[in-house]
Amino acid sequence: MFFDPMYWMVIGLGMALSIWASLKTKGTFHKYSQFTTRSRMTGADIAKAIMRDANINDVSVEPVRGTLTDHYDPRTKTLRLSEGVYAGTTMSAAGVAAHEVGHAIQHAQNYAPLKFRSAWVPVANLGGGISVFVLIMAAMLGGAATATGHNVALVGVLLFATTTVFTLVTLPVEFDASRRALVTLKRGSYLTPEELAGAKKVLDAAALTYVAAFVTSALTLFYWAMRLGLLGGRRND
Ligand SMILES: [Zn+2]
Repeated sequence: MFFDPMYWMVIGLGMALSIWASLKTKGTFHKYSQFTTRSRMTGADIAKAIMRDANINDVSVEPVRGTLTDHYDPRTKTLRLSEGVYAGTTMSAAGVAAHEVGHAIQHAQNYAPLKFRSAWVPVANLGGGISVFVLIMAAMLGGAATATGHNVALVGVLLFATTTVFTLVTLPVEFDASRRALVTLKRGSYLTPEELAGAKKVLDAAALTYVAAFVTSALTLFYWAMRLGLLGGRRND
């Protein structure tokens, strides 16, 4: 399997896509970090203001180290903004802060994809972890060429599919958080239309990371299903 050029093609394509998305995200974030907003509100200010608008009073906002480490923690109801976003008064800071608030609003409103995603985390962690061994075992058994091999291959692919499902359900969660961010930024007049366009560029670029993760996972899933003969493809060699 490790000498299968097809495997390396899939892995290489996924890696190239992920690196490209990551560079694009960092580059766009950096670009719009050069523009200070007219309101001069920090990301933390904006996050708190939007949550006040949305009647969310039980979520705390705190700074966290690093770049693009921003996230919302539903367990502790904490919005953690990277230092540059927390204290930044730029289009990038406003966009990212509002996006993270989008997750807090999803949580407050019991947004179904977010609920499913949270519940699916342990399933995907377990399934993904075990799948490696099962897939290798299936390959050693000759894939779907034998009845036993077929069953093991099927189990392995289904286990791996739990991680693909996770990357898939992440998409609506992330797109929706960005959509909410832009709506709330506009509604509260926190940004001018030009600033809003900049914030949108930052969020659109960040979304590519999640698309890349899904495509990579789906490609890998497809590879294994084909490699093990589940799609009627070539037999093990
Ligand atoms: Zn997000």
